[in-house]
Amino acid sequence: MTIRLYNTLTRRKEELKTREAGRVSMYICGPTTYNLIHLGNARPLIVFDTVRRYMEYKGFKVDYVQNFTDIDDKIINRAKEEKMDPLALAAKYIKEFYQDAGSLGVREATVHPKVSEHIPEIIEMVQGLVEKGVAYQVDGDVYFSVKDFKGYGKLSGRSLDEMQAGARVNVDERKKDPMDFALWKSAKPGEPSWDSSWGPGRPGWHIECSAMSLKYLGRSFDIHGGGFDLIFPHHENELAQSEAYAGEGTFAHYWMHNGFITVNEEKMSKSLGNFFTVREILAKYDPRVVRFYMLSTHYRSPLDFDDSKLEMSKKSLERLLNTLENAERVLKQKPLDALEGDKSKVAELSAAAKAARENFEKAMDDDFNTALAVAVLFDLTRDINSFMAEVKKGLDPQGIQALVGAKNTLVTLGQEVLGLFEGAGVAEEDQSTVDGLMDLVISIRQKARANKDWATADEIRNRLGEIGIVLEDTPQGVHWKRK
Ligand SMILES: [Zn+2]
Repeated sequence: MTIRLYNTLTRRKEELKTREAGRVSMYICGPTTYNLIHLGNARPLIVFDTVRRYMEYKGFKVDYVQNFTDIDDKIINRAKEEKMDPLALAAKYIKEFYQDAGSLGVREATVHPKVSEHIPEIIEMVQGLVEKGVAYQVDGDVYFSVKDFKGYGKLSGRSLDEMQAGARVNVDERKKDPMDFALWKSAKPGEPSWDSSWGPGRPGWHIECSAMSLKYLGRSFDIHGGGFDLIFPHHENELAQSEAYAGEGTFAHYWMHNGFITVNEEKMSKSLGNFFTVREILAKYDPRVVRFYMLSTHYRSPLDFDDSKLEMSKKSLERLLNTLENAERVLKQKPLDALEGDKSKVAELSAAAKAARENFEKAMDDDFNTALAVAVLFDLTRDINSFMAEVKKGLDPQGIQALVGAKNTLVTLGQEVLGLFEGAGVAEEDQSTVDGLMDLVISIRQKARANKDWATADEIRNRLGEIGIVLEDTPQGVHWKRK
């Protein structure tokens, strides 16, 4: 099966045809590092990490680039407040980013380029745009001239006339068109700056992604992703710069955008102040619960946040984790020579695992429908549970094989692809709990014996025997061991 994905540029689902066979190149816009990341920032991290994991599961080699905007007005302002050097402030929050993203099971990108380390590449691109006549200099600033790029508006689906009508009245009169945007900003006193032929300054926001994607992924890479809010102006501007620089069709082929996280149906954002940091959420919830909550909704749909939804996710995820734990426990029982009960159950479980894999892939191949993929995990869990409900004494080799197969399918799909079971399903037995429980059982049996209740004492011994534990009466008291 091939992967089909919704392309914002063409406004339809398309079959993924990669630039190079067996290899996918992805560029995902990263954070501006002036604060701890919030739940709205976490969504694209989890969504695109899952896309990447699924591509790898399908056998692709994935080149995954995510930038850090480590120089920007917000960073400069925050640094002034904290009396820190802007780049040091950015470095501090880059470190915090790795911690939060890592907690959420988001793996590091192949490359995490920083703007401050790519100034020569950025200057080279701006220079190229000026030479091609699509950018102009005014008092040390350089602007991109939207009128000189005929495709401007094709990503967001808006015409230049519509955009101009919506532009603010107070526009900078030095610009040729109100929609022209800065590629290079002249330095203001006290701000970090770099030398250029236009004088000291720093890059505008959008140019970094054009320059860094070109450096690390080259021309015509496969997938460009980010949140819906990046379509305009950020991605529209990236597209204009890159194609004006290198020619039509030389930028990303597929554009993927995830929906917002809303709070009471209002977008969660730092500027609105209605956000929760990942750190705050993780103080209350297991990161796997947060991941489950995000992936239970299709990535393009909005996701409305409230605590009750995280509580529901917690309960749902527990059902999956319980099945994994129970399967581990059943598999630890001593194998039987022959299966008790209905032999057709073994074949049914193997067929259920196979069907789960197929249905899971079908859901993910259809524009990464994780909501449906999660539902498939619950179907498989139900089949595993009903199989285990038949197991009283243990499993024969065929039964073990079927259960191991089904459990591994659940782990591959749920953990390897969706990243939901980090650290689960492999829990070591807690020896101190086992010791405590055995002391309790033995003391109950001793009391029964003291009361000459031989039936209860024998029943305890026999039942322990059934789960592989023997009791030994010694002069020092009763000891227990595994058979
Ligand atoms: Zn970007």
